[in-house]
Amino acid sequence: MIVKSMATVLREMAKRPTTLEFPDEKEDLTDNYRGVHKLDMKTCISCSACARICPNQTITMVDVETERGPKKMPEINLERCLFCALCEEVCPTRCLILTKDYDFAKYDRREYVKAPQDLE
Ligand code: SF4
Ligand code: SF4
Repeated sequence: MIVKSMATVLREMAKRPTTLEFPDEKEDLTDNYRGVHKLDMKTCISCSACARICPNQTITMVDVETERGPKKMPEINLERCLFCALCEEVCPTRCLILTKDYDFAKYDRREYVKAPQDLE
């Protein structure tokens, strides 16, 4: 019995680890992976289509001061996001896209709320 257990332990020790040494090692992502959003504030036309289509009320249109005066732009609460990419699909100017960035864990949940400026 002991010999069998020792053999199992040695066999497992010889195997490659099944987890990665994150953040030094990162996973290879698939082409269609959906991570944190990126917003191009210059080409956002404040249409609110992203906020309206979002199935989980993740997007709030907030006021942002720009060179041309105040504009409404999307603020995204990543805590509520399903990463479904409907907001990207519906955006008429392609200024809102989902990137491959998945390294956004926070200790303070308030940091999951991303203002338009944080998404640039
Ligand atoms: S990815 Fe989906 S859930 Fe997340 S903000 Fe866009 S529409 Fe909403
Ligand atoms: S991000 Fe795109 S869909 Fe959302 S308000 Fe701006 S232009 Fe409209």
